[in-house]
Amino acid sequence: MKKSLLAILIAAILFVGYLLYNAFSYSSTQLQVEPVEKTPIPDGAIERFTESISIKTISYQEEEHFDSIQFQLFNDFLHRSYPQVHEQCEHNIFNGYSHLFRWDGQDANLQPIILMAHHDVVPIASLPLWTVHPFEEGVKNDTIYGRGAMDDKCSMISILEAVEQMMNEGYTPKRTIYLAFGHDEELFGPRGALEIARYLEEKGVKAAMVLDEGLARTERMIPNLDKETALIGIAEKGGVSLEMIVNMAGGHSSMPAPETSIDVLSAAVSKVKKNPLEASITPALHGFLDKLGPEMDFKSKLAFSNRSIFKSMILGTLGSSNSTNALIRTTTSPTIFNAGIKENVIPTSSRAVINFRILPGETPDDVLAHVIKVVDDPRVDIKVIGAGRNPSPVSPIDNKAYETLERSIKEIFPNILTSPNLVVGGTDSRHFSSISPNIYRFVPFRITPENQACFHGIDERVPVEEFEDAIRFYRRLIINSNELDLN
Ligand SMILES: [Zn+2]
Repeated sequence: MKKSLLAILIAAILFVGYLLYNAFSYSSTQLQVEPVEKTPIPDGAIERFTESISIKTISYQEEEHFDSIQFQLFNDFLHRSYPQVHEQCEHNIFNGYSHLFRWDGQDANLQPIILMAHHDVVPIASLPLWTVHPFEEGVKNDTIYGRGAMDDKCSMISILEAVEQMMNEGYTPKRTIYLAFGHDEELFGPRGALEIARYLEEKGVKAAMVLDEGLARTERMIPNLDKETALIGIAEKGGVSLEMIVNMAGGHSSMPAPETSIDVLSAAVSKVKKNPLEASITPALHGFLDKLGPEMDFKSKLAFSNRSIFKSMILGTLGSSNSTNALIRTTTSPTIFNAGIKENVIPTSSRAVINFRILPGETPDDVLAHVIKVVDDPRVDIKVIGAGRNPSPVSPIDNKAYETLERSIKEIFPNILTSPNLVVGGTDSRHFSSISPNIYRFVPFRITPENQACFHGIDERVPVEEFEDAIRFYRRLIINSNELDLN
């Protein structure tokens, strides 16, 4: 008896020792980089940025609202504002308003890099709530306001400013640089990014790196981490919407049957909602925990360094908040529920739509199979609306392309941490998976708890200083990409 107690005690001590050893040896994997000196900003850059915002390049859901005059004005603005880019690059226009510029490098043997952005913006839903007009006012309190200030004209204009500036200085890259700007990203990019990607594919272009929007610098957005962190999207979720229809006898509401189409459908929706797809620690999340875990408090270090043991606790904690739940599983969102036309008539048909955002590793077919199994009721007709979208491939983080990106971020933003993560929305870069395995999603401005709601929302804005640093960041990335080694 005593012996077995002793054995248990020794095993417990060894186990705790093992956990503590892992936690104490869980040391920083952050790339150490010296910051570079701040370069001057081109004259008139802020005015050009505010002018770009004043042009209403809005993507409406309804095609008939498309305002070609505004998009033509934007083309004219680009032509007038970036003469060197237009003179020195091969320039292709897709469907009138999407642009691909090719800035030739000296060494044709090096694979190019592609810098992406988009210039369409979402419509204004609540104009009276804006404190600054979304298209008219420009700069206020050292901050640039307007629709597109964050998404995504900031990144497009800072890329163009950096390239125009470098061309004016006589810089020639070793590696070819493409600038790819779509005009319909907010509509999933069928006329812009998709066409550009097809064109590049036909030309046989293979890129060393593609950089698009997606994630950003963040401050106070990650629990148990007080340092500023640049999150780099290495994959994006897919999506699918399922329609569920129940057709059953209707009749007068005074003599209802035990079950009606509404009862059956609501039970089905409720089952789907209560049985989400399984949570998992994806490669992007492993990368996130590897890079940021060591920077956190001891409790987090203990859990994340022993993640196979604490897996269910980690997933439980992440699953308890909406934003982190989206990182660990395919999410389930009922978005449409229709039935009935009159208060005393039992409808013969009920319809619901559930939107799923799919985690890398799963497919629209997996989601359909899961839902059919969970609903388990032949009266519910379940089918996919349109074509589902597969999640993107996961880009590597142990290569030179990723390191070059990290280095460029840390040179411009001293003391910042970097980490890979998953993009839960969609970006134009999803169309580029055949062009490069190294697709990263990052814009260099800052997202905080205070400004995150202005993304597609009210008072969209970016501080002047962050716009200026964005120009410096893209400039640095272009310079560093010359050294990019593909192996
Ligand atoms: Zn965007």
